[in-house]
Amino acid sequence: MEETKSAIKPAARGEGIMPIHGTFNFQCGPGIGCYTRCCGDVTIVLTPYDILRLKNRLGIASEDFIDQYTLPLTKTDSGLPVFVLKMGEGLEKRCPFVSSDKGCSVYTERPWACRMYPLDTRDGDEGEEEYFVTADPEQCLGLLENNPMTVEEWEKGQGLDVYKDVEELFNQITSAQRIWGDHKLDGKVQNMVLLACYNSERFRKFIFESNFLKLFDLSPEEIEILKTDDLELLKLGFKWLQFGLLGKSTLPIREKVIKAKEKELGVTLPKDDGLWKNPEIKPAK
Ligand code: SF4
Ligand code: SF4
Repeated sequence: MEETKSAIKPAARGEGIMPIHGTFNFQCGPGIGCYTRCCGDVTIVLTPYDILRLKNRLGIASEDFIDQYTLPLTKTDSGLPVFVLKMGEGLEKRCPFVSSDKGCSVYTERPWACRMYPLDTRDGDEGEEEYFVTADPEQCLGLLENNPMTVEEWEKGQGLDVYKDVEELFNQITSAQRIWGDHKLDGKVQNMVLLACYNSERFRKFIFESNFLKLFDLSPEEIEILKTDDLELLKLGFKWLQFGLLGKSTLPIREKVIKAKEKELGVTLPKDDGLWKNPEIKPAK
């Protein structure tokens, strides 16, 4: 049966829920009877940062990675583009990166969901992050090992710290999208999301070859970093989406652009105002 390495399969409210300082038992490695069993027939939702790391690890372009290694998750009500890792064709539907003796061939760049497994996370009633064991101990034998640790220790050991800031920026977009209720994103917004979140090559070209830098006031140092740093480029993409889709002042606008707009409208623009929201971009009804 297909398993899920993502936040798709939450426990019932209150069941096995832990805070970050909660403790659980777990140990995994080549010596364990189920080694790599969880790397097949599984739904792994890839975040933009996952795709960035994996395509760089493989040394291929974003579009090629998406073509070769992912499937679009078509049943999202919102229309927000989502990609899952494409499993193999065989009976066991193995992950393309797994081998039974050597394990994960992209281990240092493995997706967020693989790092988090056998735990998963969700927002608690007070907005705090809650954790729970998502794997079945009869399948995931590492849960039967006597090796207690806190969730915090687990996250640190799995290199999840670096994901927090990046995922937080992305979540601000996806959770805001949920606020739009029944609206489904139209093609224009979907293309903006695809560009900023899932195509670093084209997004970089867009930054440097469109009016982007004439509109937004980035420092020479920031501009220099964006030429080569894919993570900073991705963070800029998230800010650009918040600016363009949610009307947030996440990017500084050049003074002369503000002055020209004020002159055109005959008003003084407040600093933090949805007037800067792209009027052409509206969620489809
Ligand atoms: S990416 Fe690595 S850890 Fe994740 S399922 Fe594939 S082989 Fe396993
Ligand atoms: S112990 Fe769990 S996480 Fe480790 S290989 Fe087995 S099923 Fe996968």
